[in-house]
Amino acid sequence: MKRRNFFRSGLAGAAGITLMGNRALAGNSKRDEGEIVYRTLGRTGLRLPVVSFGVMRADNSALVKAAYEGGMKLFDTAHGYMNGRNEEMLGNFFSTVPRESFVLATKVKPAGVDRTGLPSKDTTAERFLEMFDISLSRLKVDYVDILYMHSADTAEMVRHKETVKAMLDLKKQGRVRFIGISTHKNEPLVINTMVEEGIWDVVLTSYNYRQTYIDEMNSAIEKAAAAGMGVVAMKTLAGGWLDRERTKPVNVQAALRWVLSNPNVHTTIPGITAFDQLETDLKIMRDIVLTDQEKAELMAEASLPGLYCNACSNCVPGCPNNLPIPELMRAYMYAYGYHNAAMASELVSETAVESNPCAGCDTCTAHCVRGFDIRAKISDISRLANVPYDLLA
Ligand code: SF4
Ligand code: SF4
Repeated sequence: MKRRNFFRSGLAGAAGITLMGNRALAGNSKRDEGEIVYRTLGRTGLRLPVVSFGVMRADNSALVKAAYEGGMKLFDTAHGYMNGRNEEMLGNFFSTVPRESFVLATKVKPAGVDRTGLPSKDTTAERFLEMFDISLSRLKVDYVDILYMHSADTAEMVRHKETVKAMLDLKKQGRVRFIGISTHKNEPLVINTMVEEGIWDVVLTSYNYRQTYIDEMNSAIEKAAAAGMGVVAMKTLAGGWLDRERTKPVNVQAALRWVLSNPNVHTTIPGITAFDQLETDLKIMRDIVLTDQEKAELMAEASLPGLYCNACSNCVPGCPNNLPIPELMRAYMYAYGYHNAAMASELVSETAVESNPCAGCDTCTAHCVRGFDIRAKISDISRLANVPYDLLA
């Protein structure tokens, strides 16, 4: 859907919502002003619509403006997204509206973290703070509302003294209001460790109907919410598509409502890159009830392999070459589910695998709990190792 059509549709009219929606955000009621559903983000006290904006792949400030005017409040980016252009695009738009009318979250990935998720001598506070300074200047703000340590997968990173101290210092200085961690691997362990540490305000975690360890996820999220942490869900659409050819879409409405049926999830950040996606998300923001039919459809979809890798690592011990299979599967999802070869390429490059790393292996002994053909997917996605990034970005 083009911007013009979006504004002709009832939703933008609902953006008579525009300013009213944002005023309503300051209030405390659960359903008011256009029936947006709000929840409180744990001890931060922030009242947020249950659907927020995952900006990661968006490069269109008109889309951000329409979401803001449609009542969305939280916009989630990261230092590394689109080589910094994602933060710059947000900074250009948000410098035109009052600072207190939006909530900004960004993420900084500590340097020097190895493939197993452990810190090294290069994981320093200096480097972390340098990257944060760059993010602030791109975003054109004096402070961000939430700063996440980006992509922590281990208890060691949750407790990494230098990075934690740097983040707490930023909070004391008022350059960050709340600190958190984003995680999409070993999430229950990461969340439980965060709860034990007691210093973290918010967790941003993968959470969707396709996760095979959903009981552990539910239990960790429940503990986090009970301990006062804000819980933000990502990867809610589980890759968006069920097949490489993009002929079978995930039922977006049902998938997002399924996530929101857990009251311990305070808001969600589905990725939005087009006006028709925004239209769907603005509708769900006002009607989160999962119907029996949607639930049945989701459960039927859940039995298909799809594109979403749990990052459960069950396959990894079966691979004699110790390939970073979960990361390569995620890159595959970025390429075919998100249709974003640049993001996939960045991830393939982080893993440092070469093209066709399975070449010397006669039989694939790594088995996927979801039934993925791991070898075929790796052969396909690892071709990106030979493609210069600037051709894709
Ligand atoms: S085919 Fe590839 S993924 Fe499978 S076991 Fe061999 S190296 Fe590992
Ligand atoms: S490829 Fe399959 S088994 Fe391996 S991490 Fe992903 S979902 Fe788990």
